[in-house]
Amino acid sequence: MTLTEIIETFKMKLNASNILNSLEKAADFYGESNNDPEMSDPGETIKNSPYSSSDSDFVKSLEAENLSRNREVPLIKLTDVWKTYQMGESEFAALRGINLEIYEGEFLVVLGPSGSGKSTLMNLLGCLDLPSKGMVFLNSSDISELDESELARIRGQMIGFIFQSFNLIPTLNTQENVLLPLEFQEEDVRKARKKAAYLLEIVGLSDKKHNLPSQLSGGQRQRVAIARSLAVNPPVILADEPTGNLDSKTGDYILEFLDGLNKKEGKTIIIVTHDLELVKYATRIVYIRDGQIEKIEECTRNKPEE
Ligand code: ADP
Ligand code: MG
Repeated sequence: MTLTEIIETFKMKLNASNILNSLEKAADFYGESNNDPEMSDPGETIKNSPYSSSDSDFVKSLEAENLSRNREVPLIKLTDVWKTYQMGESEFAALRGINLEIYEGEFLVVLGPSGSGKSTLMNLLGCLDLPSKGMVFLNSSDISELDESELARIRGQMIGFIFQSFNLIPTLNTQENVLLPLEFQEEDVRKARKKAAYLLEIVGLSDKKHNLPSQLSGGQRQRVAIARSLAVNPPVILADEPTGNLDSKTGDYILEFLDGLNKKEGKTIIIVTHDLELVKYATRIVYIRDGQIEKIEECTRNKPEE
């Protein structure tokens, strides 16, 4: 199934106007007015998708990545990983000997209280940081052996990030923020713009493409972050507290969206959160406390579709 098809299914399932209504509530929550028009014609949006399977270059570029399609070989593997932060004279070990294997097609929820090391772990899983001790493997490659530009390239193609603070660039407008990962991939500019426009339409922000993040509500910023994370159609999506800054309806919308990408498209989703509500989407739950894995729980009813 292509991204287009999944989004179409998702739209039909949830009904675009309901989604927008619930997203508007998030804006109200932030006390900001929000005048998004409803998506005028979803059919038209889908038809014009630059992500359709006819976009062979794009599809090929993903296949060429030689991803491990195999559930025997982990996509990401952490072996006795420690992360120590230097605080003046003293050191603080935020992660203390993490062993974890993540397979393609999983919906992994890492659950733990504030300060347990979730964001630190996410940075390592996303290859944004290197461990103080231990090893991180991405597709069987030891990431400490890759140079920064190789790492950035693999990360750029493989992983879409939804950060806790959204990490939008404050001086770039909505469209430019979504374009950022595409520019990094040296896509041709016209094609990249088309993809950005499409993604913004999907998340209902076409009319906000010239707004700076400061001119958007919290819910809208979250939607920009999601559009951006999907821009390169990555096989893995990493989200740090994706519902943290949102009201529960908007949070549900985002989780349903990620759930659809996982179930229908087989994308690997990794969420770190303190929100117990999110475990209902998980195929596996990793409980983390004080930088250590307490236990790992398989959720049989949510096994990925074969
Ligand atoms: P979580 O995301 O679960 O709330 P974090 O991974 O952000 O936890 O932080 C884990 C622990 O590491 C916390 O006690 C935090 O204070 C500490 N920590 C995080 N980042 C740094 C840093 N850059 N320097 C020092 N301590 C840090
Ligand atoms: Mg955190």
